[in-house]
Amino acid sequence: MRRNDLVSSLMSSHDTECCGCAACHDACPKHCISMMPDNDGFLYPIVDLSACVDCGQCDKVCPIRHPYMEEKPITTLAVINRDETIRLQSSSGGFFHALAELVIQKSGVVFGARFDERWNVRIDCADTIEGIEKFMGAKYVQADLNEAYGKVKRYLHDDRWVLFTGLPCQVSGLNHFLSHDYDKLITAECVCHSVPSPKVWNGYVEAIAKGRNVTNVNFRNKGTGWRHYAYQMVVDFENGQSFKALSSSNLYMKGLIQNLTTRPSCSECIAKNGRSHADFSMGDYWGAWDLQHEMDDDKGTSIVVVHTQKALDIIPKLKVKAEQADLEKAQKYNLGLAEPTPLHKSYGKFFHDLDKRPMDRLLSRYLNEQKPVFKSFARRIFGNGAIQMVKKVIGRL
Ligand SMILES: Cc1cc2nc3c(=O)[nH]c(=O)nc-3n(C[C@H](O)[C@H](O)[C@H](O)COP(=O)(O)OP(=O)(O)OC[C@H]3O[C@@H](n4cnc5c(N)ncnc54)[C@H](O)[C@@H]3O)c2cc1C
Ligand code: SF4
Ligand code: SF4
Ligand code: SF4
Repeated sequence: MRRNDLVSSLMSSHDTECCGCAACHDACPKHCISMMPDNDGFLYPIVDLSACVDCGQCDKVCPIRHPYMEEKPITTLAVINRDETIRLQSSSGGFFHALAELVIQKSGVVFGARFDERWNVRIDCADTIEGIEKFMGAKYVQADLNEAYGKVKRYLHDDRWVLFTGLPCQVSGLNHFLSHDYDKLITAECVCHSVPSPKVWNGYVEAIAKGRNVTNVNFRNKGTGWRHYAYQMVVDFENGQSFKALSSSNLYMKGLIQNLTTRPSCSECIAKNGRSHADFSMGDYWGAWDLQHEMDDDKGTSIVVVHTQKALDIIPKLKVKAEQADLEKAQKYNLGLAEPTPLHKSYGKFFHDLDKRPMDRLLSRYLNEQKPVFKSFARRIFGNGAIQMVKKVIGRL
C-alpha cells in the first residue's frame, strides 16, 4: 500500500522533524497512532501500520510539515495582575490567571499544564477557579498532550468558551488540528526558549530527592525576588526538608538554556515568535527594571504579545494593569523571544550517556566542561559588550 509522506517519515527518522505536538495522534480517525517515549524520553508518534488506511489526515495536521507563516503582532504590553497574592504564586506577572479567570466567569473551560502524582507534566482542563490553580507556574518539562485537542473541539462544539494554554508548538498543533478559528476559542502560548526531556527531569528529581518523597515542586519560587532573574527552584520533601537552588546555579535550568537536555526540534522551532497563530504570547518581562521600571516591583511582570484583534479586545476585560512595551528592546533580555538556538555541542554524547550515571552528576559533567562553548555562542548572539548581561541570564528563564 502507498503510505503518506508523514507516515513514511515517521518510520524512517525522528529528530527535528517532530516537535511532539500530538496533533497527528488526535487527528487519526483509526486511532492507530500512539505517542511513545524514545530512548531520550521524548514522545514521538508510532503508527500501527496494520490499522492505517493511508487517509493522510495525520500529514494534513502536522505543524512541522505545514508550518504557518510568521505574523506581525498587533502590540506588546507589560502586564501585572492586580491581585498580589496571585502574582506571587505565578511565574511572571500572573497574566495566565487573569485570562483564565475571565474564561471561568463565562462558564468556559481552561486547558493548561499540571504535574501528575509522579511529577510528570500533562495537559489537562478545569472549569473552576480552584481547578486552574494546578496550571499556575511554569513547569520546565515537555508535557504529555493527553488527547487535549479532541477535548477542546468537543467543548467548542458544545458552545463553551475555551482557553488553551501551552507551548507555541502545542498551540500550533491545536490550530492545525482544528483547521479553522472558533469565536469562543482563546489561545495563549508561553514564550518558549526550549523544553527539556521528561526522562532528564525524572532522573534529576530522583537524584536530588535521594530517596525522600517529593510533596511539591516550584520551578519559579519568588522568595528571593524576580528582578534580575533572581528566582529559585524549590522542591519540598515529605520529611519537611527542601531542595533550593537559584536558577543561575541550577544544573537542570542550565541544561535547558544551553540546549543540552531539550527536544531536538527546539533548535529549529517552527512555532515561536508569531508562527503558531496564538492570540497571545505570555512571558517574563525581563529587563523591565531598565526599560520600564514603573512596571517592576520585583514581584513579577509579564510581557504579553497581542497577535489578534480578539486578543486586543480581551485586554480591557482583565483584572490587570497593562502598559505599552517595546518588544524589540525586551527581546535583548529574553532568550525565549529570540530566534531558536543550536543544540549543545555535546548533545548526542549527553543523551548517549543518559542511563550511565545519576542525572546531577551527568549534567555537571557536560555543563561544566562546556563553558567556553557557551561563551562564544553568547558572544555571537549578543556581542562582546553584553557578555556580563548574558552571564546573569544563564540558567534563568
Ligand atoms: C518550557 C517553558 C519555557 C519557557 N521559556 C520562556 C522564556 O525563554 N522566556 C520567557 O519570557 N518565558 C518563558 N516561559 C514562560 C514563563 O515561564 C511563564 O510560564 C509565562 O510567562 C506565564 O506566566 P504567568 O505569570 O502569566 O502565569 P503562570 O501561572 O506562571 O502560568 C503558567 C502557564 O504556563 C503553562 N505551562 C506551564 N508549564 C507548561 C508546560 N510544561 N507546557 C505547556 N504549558 C505550560 C500553564 O499551562 C499556564 O498557562 C517558558 C515556559 C515554559 C513552560
Ligand atoms: S494515514 Fe490516516 S489512518 Fe494512517 S496513521 Fe495517518 S491518520 Fe491514521
Ligand atoms: S510534529 Fe506533531 S503532528 Fe507532526 S509528526 Fe510530530 S507529533 Fe505528529
Ligand atoms: S522551542 Fe518550539 S519546538 Fe521547542 S518546545 Fe518551544 S515551541 Fe515547541
